[in-house]
Amino acid sequence: MGIGGEIPVDSCSRAGCTVSAQWRIEWRNPKIHTGERIKTWLACAEHVDYLSAFLHARSFPVRVVAYDPQQSEKTEPVSMPEHHA
Ligand SMILES: [Zn+2]
Repeated sequence: MGIGGEIPVDSCSRAGCTVSAQWRIEWRNPKIHTGERIKTWLACAEHVDYLSAFLHARSFPVRVVAYDPQQSEKTEPVSMPEHHA
């Protein structure tokens, strides 16, 4: 640890944005992500709408939740609710 640079703080996933994230966007591409594989993006207050709209436009399942850096949950798997027919 400490050699070769620090792990960056949890910043927005928008390209070029270095603002600390306030939101976590959980999404999945049903065409390439089989099963329960969930992708996670982080977003600042300014870009959360942009990023979620990007995903909604592709009809991907998207869930936006508040991101709490204290808990740092972003690498944990997320269980999606089952569909009830
Ligand atoms: Zn941003």
